[in-house]
Amino acid sequence: MGLHGLAHRKFDTLVIGAGGGGLRAALQLAQAEANVAVVSKVFPTRSHTVAAQGGMNAALANVLPDNWHWHMYDTVKGSDYLGDQDAIEYMCRAASHLVYELEHAGVPFSRLDNGKIYQRPFGGQSQNFGGEQAARTCAAADRTGHAILHALYQQNIRAKTHFFDEFYAIDLVTDEEGFILGALTLEIETGEPLLIEAKTTLIATGGAGQLFRTNTNAHINTGDGIAMVLRAGFPIQDMEFFQFHPTGIAGKGMLITEGARGEGGYLVNSEGERFMERYAPHAKDLASRDVVSRAIAIEIREGRGCGPDGDYVHLKMDHLGREKVHKRLPGICDMTRTFLGIDPAEQPIPVAPTAHYTMGGIPTNRHGQVVVPVGGGEEPVPGLYAVGECACVSVHGANRLGGNSLLDIVVFGRAAGNHIIGYLGEHRYHRRMDEASVERALDHLHRWDRKGEGESVAELRAELQATMEKYCSVFREASVLQEGLEKIHAIHARVGDAVLRDRSKMFNTARIEAFELENLAELAVATVTAALARQESRGAHSRIDYPERDDQHWLKHSLFFLDGQRLDFKPVRMRPLSVESFPPKERVY
Ligand SMILES: Cc1cc2nc3c(=O)[nH]c(=O)nc-3n(C[C@H](O)[C@H](O)[C@H](O)COP(=O)(O)OP(=O)(O)OC[C@H]3O[C@@H](n4cnc5c(N)ncnc54)[C@H](O)[C@@H]3O)c2cc1C
Repeated sequence: MGLHGLAHRKFDTLVIGAGGGGLRAALQLAQAEANVAVVSKVFPTRSHTVAAQGGMNAALANVLPDNWHWHMYDTVKGSDYLGDQDAIEYMCRAASHLVYELEHAGVPFSRLDNGKIYQRPFGGQSQNFGGEQAARTCAAADRTGHAILHALYQQNIRAKTHFFDEFYAIDLVTDEEGFILGALTLEIETGEPLLIEAKTTLIATGGAGQLFRTNTNAHINTGDGIAMVLRAGFPIQDMEFFQFHPTGIAGKGMLITEGARGEGGYLVNSEGERFMERYAPHAKDLASRDVVSRAIAIEIREGRGCGPDGDYVHLKMDHLGREKVHKRLPGICDMTRTFLGIDPAEQPIPVAPTAHYTMGGIPTNRHGQVVVPVGGGEEPVPGLYAVGECACVSVHGANRLGGNSLLDIVVFGRAAGNHIIGYLGEHRYHRRMDEASVERALDHLHRWDRKGEGESVAELRAELQATMEKYCSVFREASVLQEGLEKIHAIHARVGDAVLRDRSKMFNTARIEAFELENLAELAVATVTAALARQESRGAHSRIDYPERDDQHWLKHSLFFLDGQRLDFKPVRMRPLSVESFPPKERVY
């Protein structure tokens, strides 16, 4: 027992989150003999990475000609020029190496007849800087994330990473000089707090898909780490950019991988028309996700949706043949059989755009260091790192390409691991942690001790999600966003006043859901505030009242600060590391 009578453990590095990002970083550290702890609010292999279906991009050129420079071009264009080109170059160059590394770690990638790794075409991929479709996505059937997460977990067990399974991280612990000293966590089973002290802390808590009612994400994807950074006084970046995946199962949200279109499936409206030919004559159904989602939303809005309410379109695959559909997309077949009672090799799947991926998040550089604006530039926060979907490095800019996130998490997981090893070499001792440094986190912990006849956490969460979906979805405009912001502020205030319902049997998970709701409410305020401010359409952010991209005024990242709910902006890093920059140009598919 130590400070404030709290149970207390010490490590070189604390990794918060056991998805692909956290585990890749932890592996790098554990293999370098660092003493590393990983906390996860669910058992590691239940992290959302496990649900990734379609695959991971790397220019291996196993199926069609390819090279990393084309991959880089596609990623910059896909980001609608908001991605930072140094980080994008770094990621695309590293990709092939990371795929081979995963293969050696035990990921059973699907194969071609010649024994090489199979690669499928995905949206936004091209040869030769915008030419013919490329095939760049390496997959283990349609269970790629599952294979990657299990392989990384097993390698970590072998490397003796220390796991705290089912521990919930509440807040970061900081000292007066701004160093990060670790985090306060809660053991979910017992409800006991545990203070984890570390020389470096890496946040890898994943995305915040639960901001929206219909989403493809796990119930646990509540953006906890992003909110922790906000509460610690640092800004978060580009929250207005949220990806809506074109093909979620209509009304339910479960994801049908882009791989279904990569394998040759296509979308049709109620008139049986293959409508993507009108919106993206060249790439058609494999245009970038923002483009396809908008096209579906327009078809539905203009009355060409399918079904009794005309609120979805059809994803057609029956022309591909039973063997191909069942072999390449077994998980999709399972899912549609279970939830819809249909076999996609015979019947079309009803689909609609669904909240999917958090492009914004904790601002970092390409070493995974969390950065804050200082003077005209930016500086790293000492000892604090972030990687994966919670981070904004930013390789995805205003719109992520399919297959680039599994790549992002392993590339920057490894990079952060390497940088931390260097940092630990220079900072050999723990900094002094005193009672004052823990107080903020401890106050937060006790905030949910209050019980009474307050509002239900679950109902508030549902209301928040419905509000976000209604006011801040695929298409946006000032009056609607303004109204949405007022509603979100009101919900945020009610969350602040809420108490846990006093029941004789109260599970710790109820407390966890209350913490998660606070995080969601804070991120909702950030998202709508930034969406209202950005008066242009770029990538996933489509303003009906500002339909054009405006590079003159808006080629910049937004930064949201909790204090005063204020926005600031910073330039996009347009300069790559070794090649020429890709300057903004018109984005057509
Ligand atoms: C259905 C689906 C399919 C996808 N398919 C693909 C694909 O084919 N290709 C691709 O590139 N991308 C895909 N993506 C995106 C990609 O899978 C994710 O962006 C990526 O896996 C995120 O990894 P991560 O390590 O950042 O976070 P996650 O895998 O989400 O892990 C987050 C971790 O943080 C922990 N955590 C969170 N909060 C706390 C807290 N407060 N305390 C303690 N622990 C906490 C969780 O327990 C978990 O271990 C898909 C996403 C979804 C939802």
